[in-house]
Amino acid sequence: MRRITFFFSLLLLISCSRDSGFEKAYNNISTDEMMRHVSVLASDEFMGRAPFTRGEELTVEYLKNELISLGFEPAFGSSYFQDVPMVEISSEVVNPVIINTGINNHKLLAPDDIAVISPRIMENIEIKDSELVFAGFGISAPEYEWDDFNGLDVKGKTIVVFVNDPGLYTGNNDLFKGKEMTYYGRWTYKYEQAARMGATGILIIHETEGAGYPYNIPRNSSITPNLYLQTGNKNADRCMFTGWLSANSAEAIFSDAGYDVNTLRTEACKPGFKGFNMKATISLSINNSFSENVSRNVAGVLKGKESPDEVIIYSGHWDHFGVGEKEKGDSIFNGAVDNGTTMAMVFEIGRAFTNCSDRPDRSVMLFFPTSEEQGLLGSLYYTDHPVFDMDKTVTCINNDLVLPIGRMKDVMVTGYGQSDLDDMLEEAAAKQDRYLLPDPNAHTGMYFRSDHFAFAKKGVPSLYARGNCDSREHGKEWSVMQERDYINNRYHRPADNYEPETWNFEGIREDAQLAFKLGYYLANSSEWPHWKEGSEFKELR
Ligand SMILES: [Zn+2]
Repeated sequence: MRRITFFFSLLLLISCSRDSGFEKAYNNISTDEMMRHVSVLASDEFMGRAPFTRGEELTVEYLKNELISLGFEPAFGSSYFQDVPMVEISSEVVNPVIINTGINNHKLLAPDDIAVISPRIMENIEIKDSELVFAGFGISAPEYEWDDFNGLDVKGKTIVVFVNDPGLYTGNNDLFKGKEMTYYGRWTYKYEQAARMGATGILIIHETEGAGYPYNIPRNSSITPNLYLQTGNKNADRCMFTGWLSANSAEAIFSDAGYDVNTLRTEACKPGFKGFNMKATISLSINNSFSENVSRNVAGVLKGKESPDEVIIYSGHWDHFGVGEKEKGDSIFNGAVDNGTTMAMVFEIGRAFTNCSDRPDRSVMLFFPTSEEQGLLGSLYYTDHPVFDMDKTVTCINNDLVLPIGRMKDVMVTGYGQSDLDDMLEEAAAKQDRYLLPDPNAHTGMYFRSDHFAFAKKGVPSLYARGNCDSREHGKEWSVMQERDYINNRYHRPADNYEPETWNFEGIREDAQLAFKLGYYLANSSEWPHWKEGSEFKELR
């Protein structure tokens, strides 16, 4: 408590201080400048900013030139670019996949009954009679005293697990985080944990509420190429195969063993539940083809004058989907809101730092990662190959999907309650006459789905916050309608266009000012934000 009081008074000090030029820099954050950035980055000329295309060339050059004109130095030695080597894998499953329960020989057809791929850089993957082990939710979470693998031997076997975490299904707030998804609920965690346990394969039982999307999402991504970072070990640290069982397939397989899937899920939500060997085997064969390619992260640094090796990072991914299927005569996925508006904010925050009369004590980095849309690949690569050590990285303040719908009363925090950045933000937001709002859709695990998460995973307290739900002028209902309209009609579609006649940048400006204020405070203090009790990342710091 004492530390927080100390912090509050410091924040007050910033707003009163005159000689640093903070106030002037804050007020100079400009909607015109932001419009200029979005109009270029989301133009048709940039072709939807897909990695490995002409759109990438134009985008990274633009970002570099803007960093130069702001006076930010190259982050990577003498370069503003960091090469991110990637490999694209297309998996073709030889049908059918066989699951033998001893009672029935189930012939499952990919991708409708089972959606599997192999993340290994191997041309042929042959799995013959791999034993199936049911491992509850596939979670080992010491802070919740939960271990689905306790007493189970899964090495060289295939685990079958439920999606999400037990908190969702019980609604019990003392179990994990209740209905809010923890990282343990994400499929990415389950794949990683299966590999750590030495499992050959993993199958997640699909269920729409827990996944947050229908079966056709994993179905479709199993038949389109998947992008990975090149690792040098040909992804030998991943399972041989990963994927999802449709709800119907799971029902058929478990009923052979006398289980009903819903009853089993209820059982698996009870502390102390023990998984079991299903006395069944899986056989499958996958042909992989791959191509290697290099994309680029872009970053610039404003060196701190007291502790230049400590850094505050502002991030916004530059990539989007490029050119795809035509919709209403348009085939360019311009990504104006995803993520043009955030890049514009990041530049204006950077400009505000350079407008102060003095450089900050700590360094400030503007970071534009690649391939966020393909699974945060650019930011995950960066956090494995950082310029500033992770334990010298004070925070990552990220954004994504910032809507141009005018000034908002709320600051929606995705991942609210994770760290005391929330408390700092709340204080700064109050000065703008705004209040913090926990993301109302926290059960979909959005905190794990943008670039700040790559930093969180390394123990760096990180923030994803923006005005989203409560327009100062039109109220809450209107705001929800605006968001829904964006999600339903423009999100990840060619219609995510820059529309200067209808867009209102005033709210984005206020979000930029808020992020600037928080970062300015941290950049001029020796304060380190902390994870809160119960955060799944606390142990990592
Ligand atoms: Zn995005």
